Amino acid sequence: MKEIILIKNGELALKGLNRATFESVLVKNIKRRMYDLGKFTISRSQSTIMLEPKDDDFDMDEAVERLSKVFGIAGFQRAAAVSKNMEEILETAAPYLEEDLRRVKTFKVEAKRSDKAFPLTSPQISCEVGGKLLEAFPHLKVDVHHPELTVVVEIREHAAYIRGDQIKGAGGMPVGTGGKAAILMSGGIDSPVAAWMMAKRGIVLNAIHFASPPYTSLQSEMKVHDLIRKVAAYGGDIALFTVPFTEIQERIREDCPEELFTLVMRRFMMRISCALAEREDCLALVTGESVGQVASQTMGALVCTDAVADRPVFRPLIGMDKEEIIERARKIDTFEISIRPFEDCCTVFTPKHPRTRPKKELLEAAEQNMDVEALIQRAVEGTRKELIRNEF
Ligand code: ATP
Ligand code: MG
Repeated sequence: MKEIILIKNGELALKGLNRATFESVLVKNIKRRMYDLGKFTISRSQSTIMLEPKDDDFDMDEAVERLSKVFGIAGFQRAAAVSKNMEEILETAAPYLEEDLRRVKTFKVEAKRSDKAFPLTSPQISCEVGGKLLEAFPHLKVDVHHPELTVVVEIREHAAYIRGDQIKGAGGMPVGTGGKAAILMSGGIDSPVAAWMMAKRGIVLNAIHFASPPYTSLQSEMKVHDLIRKVAAYGGDIALFTVPFTEIQERIREDCPEELFTLVMRRFMMRISCALAEREDCLALVTGESVGQVASQTMGALVCTDAVADRPVFRPLIGMDKEEIIERARKIDTFEISIRPFEDCCTVFTPKHPRTRPKKELLEAAEQNMDVEALIQRAVEGTRKELIRNEF
């Protein structure tokens, strides 16, 4: 018996040209994730993509694990491929579906026959396969209206396929269909989740991290690497830009009123990120901010931060509670890394009483004391680029 995987596209509302682009990017992404698992082919018919291993040692379990992280897939199924022969179908169904069938009490069999020359009709196929499964698993009952499991037997042109449970896909859009944006990535809980949410909408990500050695350690930078690697399991390889931020933070500490430290710093982050985004063709910035979470994330503070950005700043977590963000962080396996102790440049010179209702004029006046352009230029020039590959 051979096994294949049938993959269903997400976003069924897509039409026309968009749909074709969506599908071809999705197929490319699937191939890229699977390439080291052995030889396989991929074919398409209607909204189904079929992945067919060509090597006996192709690792199906690993393939399923990786597919569950590919955006643009609504769901997928493993299926047994057998010859179009009723005896072989009946012999294969029970052992192949054993694990699924032992988990449920009710089931039904649905037969689909695109090959009309097949000697049995669809109801006859369902009836025979159903009978055989009842015989093999006496605890089962047939429920045609609300079965816990629907077994599908499909007779196609070249083979017959038997499949059980549908596995839920990651949803969203294939990465690469939505353009490119730059995520400002700290080592905290929020920014990896924000990155994941944008990747889910098909956006290719660059990551920007501000490091302030010796106030921030190499471990903090490693932590950011580890987080990005997790996000890259979904979003594909991510280019990381590490910006030297020490000089700017020291200048801010010298030249600005303490209550404005954080906001002036965030405005520097925005300006530098915009310069890098322009150079790297990123249309927008992304942050992990959520309104009201901390002093620098009040609506007034966000307005002051955005005032220096020359492109949209997306904040996918804006309306989420910390609890909801943590729940998502656990699901995408970033939480345990995020809670490793670390210093972020945001936490090294935190004011005791930050302004929560800042005035733009006050920030501008404070910045007058600094050579903003030169500081930005030096930070951009000192930025290090590296490619973080996805971790499976
Ligand atoms: P997080 O959990 O992502 O660190 P946070 O709630 O702790 O978020 P802040 O530390 O105020 O919030 O940072 C808000 C956002 O600013 C972060 O989500 C991230 O997008 C960006 N940011 C903060 N620190 C850095 C940094 N060192 N490098 C790059 N971006 C940063
Ligand atoms: Mg943070």
